[in-house]
This record gives sequence, C-alpha cells and structure tokens, in this order.
Amino acid sequence: MFVSENLSVNEKGNLAINGHDTVDLAKKYGTPLYVMDEDMIRTHCRTYIDSINRFYDGKGMACFASKAFSCKEIYRVMQQEGMGIDVVSAGEIYTAYKAGFDMSKAVFHGNNKTEEEINMAADLGIGRIVADNVFELDTLERIAKEKGKKFRVLLRIKPGVDAHTHSFISTGQIDSKFGFALETGEAFEAVKKTMSLENLDFAGIHCHIGSSILDTQGFVAAAEIMMKFIKQIKDETGFEIPELNLGGGFGIKYVEGDDPLPYDEYMKAVAEVVNSFCEKNDVKRPFILIEPGRSVVGSAGITLYTCGGRKIIPNIRTYVSIDGGMCDNPRYILYQAEYDAVVANKASLPKDEKVTIAGRCCETGDMIGENMPLQHCEPGDIIAVCATGAYNYAMSSHYNRLRKPAVVFVNSSSDRIVVQRESLDDIIKNDI
Ligand SMILES: *Cc1c(COP(=O)(O)O)cnc(C)c1O
Repeated sequence: MFVSENLSVNEKGNLAINGHDTVDLAKKYGTPLYVMDEDMIRTHCRTYIDSINRFYDGKGMACFASKAFSCKEIYRVMQQEGMGIDVVSAGEIYTAYKAGFDMSKAVFHGNNKTEEEINMAADLGIGRIVADNVFELDTLERIAKEKGKKFRVLLRIKPGVDAHTHSFISTGQIDSKFGFALETGEAFEAVKKTMSLENLDFAGIHCHIGSSILDTQGFVAAAEIMMKFIKQIKDETGFEIPELNLGGGFGIKYVEGDDPLPYDEYMKAVAEVVNSFCEKNDVKRPFILIEPGRSVVGSAGITLYTCGGRKIIPNIRTYVSIDGGMCDNPRYILYQAEYDAVVANKASLPKDEKVTIAGRCCETGDMIGENMPLQHCEPGDIIAVCATGAYNYAMSSHYNRLRKPAVVFVNSSSDRIVVQRESLDDIIKNDI
C-alpha cells in the first residue's frame, strides 16, 4: 500500500511512520516538516555492514555518502553504527567533525577541492582523499609536504560503464567532469604519478557509476573493469592495490513499480566478482569500500505539508497547493523525479483523484509532481510525500526567502528535533 515499509495506517485512519501518527507530528512541530525514521536508517547501515561481513569476510567498509542527508545527528548515528562517511565540502567536513565523528573514517571526494578544504582535511585527520585530477594531485602533494603529513589517496577512475544501459561506451563516459579515463591511458598515468609523489600514500582506486540504479549488472561490470586495472597495475609496476572503492548509487522505491534489490545483493554480486578474479589471477584481495547515500536514508524519510487552496482548471488539471515545494524538495523541478503522496489524515481512504501538487515558490515548475493519485484533500489537510529522506533537506534552498523546515527523527520509543526550523532572523543573519 505504501512505498516505504515503515509507513502504515493507524487506528484513527492517519498515516503513521514507525508507529508515530504523522498528523500529531505535524501539529507538534509544524509544517513543512521532514520526518526521518532513525530505526530504518540504522537497519540499512547494519544491512550494508553485515553484507560485507557475510560475503567478503568483513574486509571492507560501508561509507554513508553524506551529501544525501547531512546534519550533526546523522553523523552521530553513523558513528554509533560503525559506518564510514563520504564528505565533499568544508561544510560537510565541519559538520561531521563538530558532531564528534571519527574523521579517520571519512573519505573526502569532489572534483575541485579547495585549498581551504584540503588544509582542513589534513588538520582534522581525514582518513582518505579521492583525487580527481592531476592538478589536485600536485596540490595534495604540496600541502601534505607543507604540513609534514601524508595523505592516503585513492584515484577516481571513469570505468566506462553506463549504469543505465549497462553498455560500455567510451565517449559518453570520457565526457564526465569526474575522474581519470581508463581507455585513454590517463588513469594509468595518474597511478604512476601518484606512486612517484613522496607525500601521498597511494591506497587505491575508486569509481562511482551513477545513482538510482536498481540492479547489479552495472556494478558487476564496473567491478570487473576495476579488477582488470588492478591487475594491469600489478603487472606493469609490481604494486598491489590495497583498496577498491566501488561507490554508491543503489536505488530505492519511490513509486509503485520501482523494484529495488535487497541492499545486501550489491555486496554479494561484487564480492563474487572480486573473489573469483583474485583467485584466478593471483591478485591480492583488496579492501572494498562502498558508498551508499540515497539507499541509507531515502525510504526512511517523509515530508509533511499543510494543504492550502485548490485550483480546478476544467479539463486540464487540478492544482493542490502546499506550504513548501521546490525549496525543500527540488527534485521534481531538477529532473522530474517521481514521488508518492498520501493525505495523512485520510490515509485509509481511497486515492480517488489525480492532482498536481504545487509548491509555493514563484516558479511555474515548482511542483512535487503531476498526475499524482491522492485522496480528496481540503485546506488544512496534511499531505505526506514519501521517500524524501535523501536529497531533499540536503538540496533545500532559501529561494523566496523561505525558511528551511525542521527535521525530526522518530524511533520506536520517541520523536525529537534534530534540525531546528529556521527563524526569520536566521534568514537575515548574514545581511549587513
Ligand atoms: C553521490 C555519490 C555517492 C552516493 O550515491 P547514492 O546514489 O546516493 O547512493 C557515492 N559516492 C560518490 C562519489 C558520489 O558522488
């Protein structure tokens, strides 16, 4: 009935998330409101860690790609669960550090890291840096030398796998702003350069083939290509690559019809490839890192809105207005992402209408979706949009000077604010 398994209808006929009445949550904390199911997030972390234990003898680390959802509390949860994290900016690094996260388990990504950020990474003891380009290798070497430290470095590789068609295409993949291309020899040159730099500790290679991927074929293909590259490096330089980072991108269920795999299937599939490759080719089994973002937090979250006016345009469409929109969820206006919605206080009733849920920003394209099946709703009703835990709060903005919503975590026993709703003074705090 619902896209996420933590959602249900309670005895009042209201939508509940992990047993918490969403109408009560909306009353208690106001709307728009992000609600995240902490228990589900923890379960997902355990599934990934457990899959590394079962299929790869624990020789790996699951890192939460925190760009999907970043605030202090999520880093505390990740720390408690034994996860690593991916970070891509000074802001994410600082947030994790301030939350007390063990920065040796942080992996620093990005295609244009600034000197400020690299200095920060050195000072805070970030465990791994994934280098994107030659200029960056030189910068890393210089800063490491200045600091009298060594950076543990992986190289971002474009494996030439198109995750969506599972075809191997060269040009399309070379045309990406991220990483070193394999097929041109650029990646191998980068390997040799990294090995020659004194202040860089060459730890391995990384790839990330895309996002919202619902099967394992692309990951298997990428793992094979990366293992062949590891063997090439061994054959030509004698160096055994210690670490292989296979990125994230595992998909979730947004709407009926999406059929994601159980998360442990990914590690199972790539572990098989790596294990058998290593056995056949006399290559040492690398430590494997995986970087799930969306799949850790996406299904765990919902967004609650209060329904405003409705506008019926005969024979064309019915608009239902909400008190949020592209400012708290820009995924429709960015790429026509699809969502499932429920009228939270009428969750047991049939969805007998199809409506366009319109946001409140001054953009015609500001919508949560078009043609969305929904219970008949009236002003004051609470609309829940499902599976908004990833890339919603993280991508929220202040357009139209809207205040960012609060984020509430719920678990089996309680609910609590983890990010406060912004005030009007927050909005002007940097204005002179
Ligand atoms: C975005 C990203 C991820 C996470 O992707 P999801 O689709 O959220 O799992 C992991 N690694 C890298 C390098 C990324 O850029």
